[in-house]
Amino acid sequence: MPQAVWDRVHLVDHPYAQMVLTKIRDRTTGQIEFRKGLVKLGRLLGFEIARTFDVTRRVVVTPLNVEAEGVEIPDIDRVVLVTVLRAAMPLTEGLLKVFPNARQGVVSARRVEETYMGGLEFDVEFTYIRIPQIKPEEIVVIADPMLATGSTLLKVGEEVVKNGTPKRLIFATVISTMQAINRLLSKFTNAEVFTVAVDQKLDSRGYIVPGLGDAGDRSFG
Ligand code: URA
Repeated sequence: MPQAVWDRVHLVDHPYAQMVLTKIRDRTTGQIEFRKGLVKLGRLLGFEIARTFDVTRRVVVTPLNVEAEGVEIPDIDRVVLVTVLRAAMPLTEGLLKVFPNARQGVVSARRVEETYMGGLEFDVEFTYIRIPQIKPEEIVVIADPMLATGSTLLKVGEEVVKNGTPKRLIFATVISTMQAINRLLSKFTNAEVFTVAVDQKLDSRGYIVPGLGDAGDRSFG
């Protein structure tokens, strides 16, 4: 992967995130625990994203009538969250704990499995798209747990930028592949990917290996 692309990848290597990921990779983890795991990872991705925001100084007076120096993060309230249905719903639930005032968009996307011939090309069908007008000072976070081929997120990203150019465009994922990151960030040359893991390869159906299976099916049964 070219360095210019890799510099825009943020790997969430916190041991807690890796422990939660391990739990949801495990095929014996059931639906409720799987979904809870995705919510936790959404929150952790939110923390890592917020870590890259500028901070301003804020002084407060405590109940002891003493000043304490602190910080504010103005961009916390300038986030637009775009959920790729259905698998990203639990991830969004976690992200909203960090960005509670986020405006939200929704895209219902389906990979047309029959069109997959290997490689990175997949036909993607949208059945519902609702994205707010994006203001230049806003940070768009597009949530989708699995960045396998990049086909879905390429199309979702195109829909987002039709509605305005954000200050930052961030893809928040749990597991990605190198090939898909490269494809996505080569197309969106200012975008960034926040991910908890980068896996090795795709299988003959376009699933990530070792991956965690079908994130939608495992979350929703
Ligand atoms: N979507 C999933 O849910 N899992 C994969 O491995 C790839 C895409």
